[in-house]
Amino acid sequence: MLPKPPPREATLGFLLCPPFRIYGESIAGEITTLMIPELDLGFDIGSCPRAMLSSKHLAITHGHMDHIGALAYYCSQRRFQGMGDAKIVCDERIAPAIRTMMDGFSDLEGQRTPYTLIPVQPDQPVEIKNNILLRGFKAEHTCPAFGYTVAEKRTKLKAEFLGLPQEKLKELKDGGTDITYSFEVPLITYTGDTAPGAHLLREDVRKSQIIISECTFFEPDHKERAKVGMHMHIDDIAEWLRVVECQYLVLVHISRRTDMMYARKRIAEVAGPKNAEKVLFLMDYKANKARYEGQLIAAGEPLPGADRDRPPPRGGGRGPGGGFGGGPRSGPSGGPSGGPPGARSFTPPSFRPQTRPTDGGAPRPPMRPLPPTPPTRPQP
Ligand SMILES: [Zn+2]
Ligand SMILES: [Zn+2]
Repeated sequence: MLPKPPPREATLGFLLCPPFRIYGESIAGEITTLMIPELDLGFDIGSCPRAMLSSKHLAITHGHMDHIGALAYYCSQRRFQGMGDAKIVCDERIAPAIRTMMDGFSDLEGQRTPYTLIPVQPDQPVEIKNNILLRGFKAEHTCPAFGYTVAEKRTKLKAEFLGLPQEKLKELKDGGTDITYSFEVPLITYTGDTAPGAHLLREDVRKSQIIISECTFFEPDHKERAKVGMHMHIDDIAEWLRVVECQYLVLVHISRRTDMMYARKRIAEVAGPKNAEKVLFLMDYKANKARYEGQLIAAGEPLPGADRDRPPPRGGGRGPGGGFGGGPRSGPSGGPSGGPPGARSFTPPSFRPQTRPTDGGAPRPPMRPLPPTPPTRPQP
């Protein structure tokens, strides 16, 4: 018998949560890399499938290899493919180590891969697109870790000026009156790796339209393991679902040993059918394919393969001229929306603040040469 060929490589997980698409690959301890194409934003880069290269901004949650292992490659490939320098947003606490790692590659390659590092403090906004702000917040993990929220900044006319004719408004504005006010609509939260804690009850997290959260453990007797690794257990997710207002909660970072059928069964058991409806699993290819086909049918669009000349869906159903926000809305699949009314005052015990233990691309553009005297580092 001839030996078998290698296993076929898994494709990227894909979810359409209008108006956003979520791409990525995420298996606990092995790989996590996510992308929101509508925001030109990636989160983490444990591996770097080609599709991930197009994220202009990449926000890194923490330094575990399954989240950062392909960072240098991502920076180098973006440069190689003529896509511009990578913009890496990270927790300022890990910025020096990222620089050291990138310097190591400069030594190895004999050339310097350009990249822009944007170290941030908690809540320091980074404008990743016009009026779209990315902010980090401290998560609780076994090493310094951030979660991120993305919000859209909007302006509205103050109530007292509503109904006034345009000329009058212009006159007021020209006269120096501030006729508008600004507010933010939380769009997406990504937790990164984290234990449950008060940070998951932040207003911008609770009110995000989409929450992408890790959930590493599903078995009832794995709660202790979740605690030790400072990860989320499915029971934490169930508690959290009682207070978040998201339309979709996308679970990632599920271990390879967890069967998707079992994961779906467990979330229905612990969260109840209504809250479980909001929960999607990024790496559940089969369910997500069926879901997307349902979305296409509901939108009156042909199924993939029905019309091969048709370009792939873009913009995830975002209406012309529409903003990114607009409050919770149902997707074409009639997705669930809204949270339980009056649930906001409830703080699940495990979320209260706690003390914790411790191919042939474009020709390679010229690289900047190494500095004449590279810094010397002590040998291990
Ligand atoms: Zn991880
Ligand atoms: Zn981790």
